[in-house]
Amino acid sequence: MAEGRHTPLKADVVVFDLDDTLYEEMSFVRGGFRAVAAWLEREVSGARAERCYEWMLEELERRGRGRVFDAVLERLGRRASRRMVAACVQVYRRHEPVLALYPDAERVLRTLDEAGVPAYIVTDGHPGVQAAKLKALGLAGRPPIRRCYLTRRYGLCHEKPSPHCFRLICEREGVSPGRVVYVGDNPRKDFVGIRPLGFRTVRVMRGAHAAVELDETHEAEARVRDLEEFMDWLTGGI
Ligand SMILES: [Mg+2]
Repeated sequence: MAEGRHTPLKADVVVFDLDDTLYEEMSFVRGGFRAVAAWLEREVSGARAERCYEWMLEELERRGRGRVFDAVLERLGRRASRRMVAACVQVYRRHEPVLALYPDAERVLRTLDEAGVPAYIVTDGHPGVQAAKLKALGLAGRPPIRRCYLTRRYGLCHEKPSPHCFRLICEREGVSPGRVVYVGDNPRKDFVGIRPLGFRTVRVMRGAHAAVELDETHEAEARVRDLEEFMDWLTGGI
């Protein structure tokens, strides 16, 4: 970012979303399914872990996340009782994930650290699960990341699109929203709540939402292929 010394950056504080922005969320999902499949093999007679795992991926592909565990239990000939589904959810949430940052995320974090640009993470979702992901990725306490905001810890009403945690970052850094950029991948919730307040927004076109096209109010001001391209945006290259 040597050129950044002379060209002022478009933002002084960089905030990242987590899932599908810094690492591939499907890698977490696959690990969770593997854990549930192994558990089913132990708990349900005749269940084969490999087959259960394939069924879960199939169901996810066909109908989305809503009934993955119900579907696999039914295919095993078990009634998908609330208790069994809840047990699967627990195994999924509590598995110890093995995750890796996208290579470009790794490089960009290093570059921001060298340049002394403070970074934050703002992520929705089950706080225990999100904390386990941060730990697996080595992000908690890793410079330049000053703090990871697990929005649900502030109440469900402060999940995105609420600007609550973004305002906390402005207060902490003593900057106005116009000096903060949020990099996320989900146009349904990542930008619509903060853009009207003057936050800068960049959408990284990858992950489960890459093909989603919504109206202008949900869009970010810029789109990038990956975080290297985000650095070009930040330093004024694009
Ligand atoms: Mg995301």
